[in-house]
Amino acid sequence: MSKQMSKLKNSEFVEQKLEQLKNGVSEFLNSEKWKEYLSFQAKFHSYSFNNVILMLLQWEERGKTNSITKVAGAKTWEKLGRFVKDGEKPLIILAPNIKVYTKVQEDNMCTKPLISKFQEGKQVEAKGYISQIISQGSKYGIYVLQTTYMVVKSRNGKVQFEEEVEGTIIINSRVKFEVGDEVEVEGRVSRVSNYKKYKQLKLFNSKKIGKREVSEVIESRVLVGFFPVEVYDVSQTEGKEIPELCNEIQGTSEQAEKLLDVLRNKILDIPVVYEPMQYNGYYQRAHGNLENRIALKEGLSINHQAKTLIHETCHYIMDQKKQKGKINLGQYTEPEEGFDGLYAVEEVVVESVAFIVSQYFNLDTSEYSFEYVSSWSKGNPNKVLEVGKLIRQLSNELIEKLENALNGEEKEQKIA
Ligand SMILES: [Zn+2]
Repeated sequence: MSKQMSKLKNSEFVEQKLEQLKNGVSEFLNSEKWKEYLSFQAKFHSYSFNNVILMLLQWEERGKTNSITKVAGAKTWEKLGRFVKDGEKPLIILAPNIKVYTKVQEDNMCTKPLISKFQEGKQVEAKGYISQIISQGSKYGIYVLQTTYMVVKSRNGKVQFEEEVEGTIIINSRVKFEVGDEVEVEGRVSRVSNYKKYKQLKLFNSKKIGKREVSEVIESRVLVGFFPVEVYDVSQTEGKEIPELCNEIQGTSEQAEKLLDVLRNKILDIPVVYEPMQYNGYYQRAHGNLENRIALKEGLSINHQAKTLIHETCHYIMDQKKQKGKINLGQYTEPEEGFDGLYAVEEVVVESVAFIVSQYFNLDTSEYSFEYVSSWSKGNPNKVLEVGKLIRQLSNELIEKLENALNGEEKEQKIA
């Protein structure tokens, strides 16, 4: 077959496999396994850098050698059908104590017409709605009440003032209110609040009577401190099995052995090393006195090694192209997604390429690749098509390189 004919045949193959991948991903995203996985994942927070360090220090101190993978409180583990093993000590992390303040944008927050009527000790009944939460604790909250109706009585109960009046008063209430709650309150003027010098009402009684639409609510979050939280790593728990995606592809095959050999010895111009690690592999760009390299997880099956080496080779090729400005992943993500968005797109691309290239050389990785691509596609089955052009280009390029190398051509000088 002429070179051009085989190129044409190859791109048809790539096209067909891209379609198969898209369908596989879309099917997986509709599966029970994916839903189960998502609801499981949703129970876990991502922890701050400081908390990760804090956990690692405690882990090390206890002489634990396995890596911490999934961490949650005992209650969360129980909800997932797992229980902390006897004798396991919790890891202590610090959770931020954040107060949320909400505020309705009001032009007219004037209490002046009321202030003169509000001498200390006077009894007040008011109706209105909550326009702002100044603070909210577990026992009581301090709120701004936007009044619509007020009655002010003297100490002996004589009505001194009664009318529909728009003003604001500060209330202390044991009832938890939200912004927009319509309320009725009754109480005694206690003191002038520090808060914008508003009069403050000490309530005997407050109740919610409805809810009104409040247009513009401003929310601010203020870090007021930290409190300790006890968590456990999954290895400290036992019980119901954990839904896992992307299980290792098992087995050995001639094709996989050939691919590994050709990639290592004829295509890659950087070392491939084996290391014990949590991930299946990584590509590391040269920095400091470390050179470019690819690492594979120690102990993986031959079939999985081959797939992973194609995946990491593709990261390497993409990195070379990015540095030369030949690939711009930014066009496939929204700016606000930042680095995470770019990372996710690259994972979709390289695993798609690994799937297609493996298929071309009769190594089926669909069982792993569909789940992997799905998990980086953010639930969007069309993600692989959005980056299809890049997947096609890289797949064709890598297939051609591998074919040439398998046909005995000399090691190429440059990878990309
Ligand atoms: Zn990767």
